[in-house]
Amino acid sequence: KTSVVDGYNTDNEEVSKLLEKSKAKSALERLQEERKSLPIYSYRDELLQAIQDYQVVVIVGETGSGKTTQIPQYLHEAGYTKRGKIGCTQPRRVAAMSVAARVSHEMGVKLGHEVGYSIRFEDCTSEKTVLKYMTDGMLLREFLAEPDLESYSVLMVDEAHERTLSTDILFGLVKDVARSRPDLKLLISSATLDAEKFSDFFDSAPIFSFPGRRYPIEINYTKAPEADYLDAAIFTVLHIHVKEEPGDIFVFLTGQEEIETVEENLKHRTKGLGTKIAELIICPIYANLPIELQSKIFEPTPEGARKVVLATNIAETSLTIDGIKYVIDPGFCKMKSYNPRTGMESLLVAPISKASANQRKGRAGRTGPGKCFRLYTVCSYNDLEDNTTPEIKRTNLANVVLILKSLGIHDLLKFDFMDSPTPEALMEALELLFSLNALNERGELTMLGRRMAEFPLDPMLSKAIVASDKYKCSDEMISIAAMLSVGNSIFYRPKDKQVHADNARMNFHSGNVGDHIALLNVYNSWKETGYSTQWCYENYVQVRSMKRARDIRDQLEGLLERVGIELTSNANDLESIKKAITSGFFPHSARLQTNGSYRTVKPPQAAHIHPSSGLAQVLPRWVLYHELVLTTKAYMRQVTELKREWLVDIAPHWYQLKDAEDSGTKKKSRGEMKRL
Ligand code: ADP
Ligand code: MG
Repeated sequence: KTSVVDGYNTDNEEVSKLLEKSKAKSALERLQEERKSLPIYSYRDELLQAIQDYQVVVIVGETGSGKTTQIPQYLHEAGYTKRGKIGCTQPRRVAAMSVAARVSHEMGVKLGHEVGYSIRFEDCTSEKTVLKYMTDGMLLREFLAEPDLESYSVLMVDEAHERTLSTDILFGLVKDVARSRPDLKLLISSATLDAEKFSDFFDSAPIFSFPGRRYPIEINYTKAPEADYLDAAIFTVLHIHVKEEPGDIFVFLTGQEEIETVEENLKHRTKGLGTKIAELIICPIYANLPIELQSKIFEPTPEGARKVVLATNIAETSLTIDGIKYVIDPGFCKMKSYNPRTGMESLLVAPISKASANQRKGRAGRTGPGKCFRLYTVCSYNDLEDNTTPEIKRTNLANVVLILKSLGIHDLLKFDFMDSPTPEALMEALELLFSLNALNERGELTMLGRRMAEFPLDPMLSKAIVASDKYKCSDEMISIAAMLSVGNSIFYRPKDKQVHADNARMNFHSGNVGDHIALLNVYNSWKETGYSTQWCYENYVQVRSMKRARDIRDQLEGLLERVGIELTSNANDLESIKKAITSGFFPHSARLQTNGSYRTVKPPQAAHIHPSSGLAQVLPRWVLYHELVLTTKAYMRQVTELKREWLVDIAPHWYQLKDAEDSGTKKKSRGEMKRL
């Protein structure tokens, strides 16, 4: 029986409202839909099949297509995490954190529970963690604790095209582990098409490549070379903002300083534009930006406004921001370069490669047609190198050599490198570790070297910490090491209060104690106030950096215990603290010249004390430095006075070796080292 109702009203407001409500999806459901709209989604089953069929798969897909966020989830859904964790490496800290946050969001779990991340000095994982995003450097260190990576069922070496030093070393190590562990799945993923090289290296592993979404992009070059690319970038942002249709802007800059300059400048200039022009939301992103500010760049731009993202090349391939229509590419990035003959490492602003330029351009065409403004000429573009030289060819290798030696890999020349480092660079690293007594004459790891390897620090700094045991000042040394690890962001110097800021800073230097002790003074003063934020404001010290230093220090304290070093304090004996520092940093010593400049001992070359140093006006006869930076001149940063006797006493072998070199027997000592 059917009953009939006449005059049924399909326009019932109440019912429509109810229907609307049920249609309004939960945020989680919406995220699930977004996941399904990613290019990789249509290849999900095929990809899982390939991973099931082969132990190693090389995966190629465009930036933003879903490799990093989706593949680990697919594997989790397919049950791989029942056998062990899925690890996914990223060359950059920010990417590891941001991607982990996104994936935990998509899975509706708390960050640090099922999905977590691990970066140096910050472990945001737990017993529950099955999807672990981490920096490549962290996975490298995990080999020390777990050489066969038994707790992992899948390893994804992501952003393989970046070819960072750690990623390159990982290639050799994971290849070896995969041979002894047939159950381990290995994925090598990359955003660029030249995957043959990866495939060849991994014994002709299959390449799984899938198309991304690409919209046409118009490229604009400048007519003539730009004298000042920052000015040109600022001009172009404003030009787009005023003249071009809606859509967000992306500017590639080389570092935090440049980003802050451009940010300030844009804020200032947009103030004068009046109310007729839409709001310009400025979003900076760089490695040291705190995580709570990082999420801002992913927030959708409000109607009627325009967002401009100022980023380092972190966003070239490792982060995707939706809604970008305009890319401004000045054509530069900061690049490490290393000269093994002189042992000098420098961070220089250098032209990017064609591959980078094209990745950058690609950021403009992900969600619709876009425009790329290259702030250089077509000719300059044609002159760019095709690809960036892998980092292994242009960096100091001491750190990874120490790790490899700790893993029992003695013959480094036989290590399975995708691209071998130069023999000079390897020799230089071996010599340094030998002079620090981390290796013996036969090139074997010493007890000291084993302890040094426990610290996720540069070998010279690790050595200073281990040596502080002898000088009974491990307490002070780990504070100094923590402060140095934070980088050059302890003090700030607002433009309108530079004199005050400088005075405050010089207070920590009284007695010309040197920059290392000054950093210790800052830390201890802050600690005495009960870690007061107010104190930081009053002293022009960055609270955030100090908190990070405290975190790092806590971890170093834990590591001291692990290597069996007692926490001892010798605060009043500055000489002992300086000797402990010298034990690690004697290879970075320099002597004053008659003309007021310095000459480093090894390699002999001119250097100057950085103007920010407390010793810049003091000019002691002998100094050691934390790092040498090359700008207009070679500048020594973080400088402390030392006595020549200490060198003779602490590093007799090294110091005599150098004396010998001066008298022309360099070849012989080199020859001796060859046995390493
Ligand atoms: P790929 O690794 O292939 O470059 P991802 O997996 O990183 O791609 O990104 C896939 C998509 O996920 C991006 O296009 C973007 O829409 C989204 N996404 C990634 N990270 C975030 C984030 N932190 N916040 C918001 N959306 C994100
Ligand atoms: Mg990715």
